[in-house]
Amino acid sequence: MDRRAFLTVSAAAASALAIGPSVNPFLPTEPALAWPKGCISSLPASKTRRMAWTVDDGASVDSLRAYVKLLEKHEELRMTMFVWAGASSWKKLAKPLTELTQSGRVQMANHTMSHLSLTGATDRKIKQELVSTGRFIEDTYGVDPGPYWRPPYGHIDARVIKVAADNGFTKPVLWYGSTGSGTGVSSASVLKNCQKWMANGRIIIDHANSNATVANFASIRALLKARGLQTVTITDAFGA
Ligand SMILES: [Zn+2]
Repeated sequence: MDRRAFLTVSAAAASALAIGPSVNPFLPTEPALAWPKGCISSLPASKTRRMAWTVDDGASVDSLRAYVKLLEKHEELRMTMFVWAGASSWKKLAKPLTELTQSGRVQMANHTMSHLSLTGATDRKIKQELVSTGRFIEDTYGVDPGPYWRPPYGHIDARVIKVAADNGFTKPVLWYGSTGSGTGVSSASVLKNCQKWMANGRIIIDHANSNATVANFASIRALLKARGLQTVTITDAFGA
């Protein structure tokens, strides 16, 4: 590296330290994936430094329980859960999840009944998947899930967006970056992803399918503190 380049990098690093990590030049400044028009992957600008931690699926009841315990223990935490209504854990943990939901610290949003790829589904099937999951959330937790939903696998296109909107699901929430958690994924690799993506204004996708993220919570908490971030639900940021 020549001296000029060295000075430029040093200045950037120094200003990142001074101004804060939201402008850290070493963090990604674009979402991990390019989403179609109308998809949400960042939070609106705010004076508060904040991040939306979103948790999908609930394929493992043990994993979903670990998130519930985390939320019960750490009252500052707020999360949005994208409910795959066909997974039995959502019903099994209905009692603590209802308490968390009614307190406003957890937002329940729609992630379909069968967790199928909607881009290959008929209009009728898309409607059925979203409407039945909306009813499930209302019946199970006593809250209206509102317009927020997330397509399984992030499979979405203009037709899916329109069919969902025609049925009241007008706000498709995708993500800026992922914890990468999942079965067979190491905690170390999840932590690296958290360091890469957990920054101001971002929507982070996580999955209650393994314990890889919760196992890192002490480090994640320290990371959020160092970056001056608080967690918010999607509704906190966008309104009901
Ligand atoms: Zn999913």
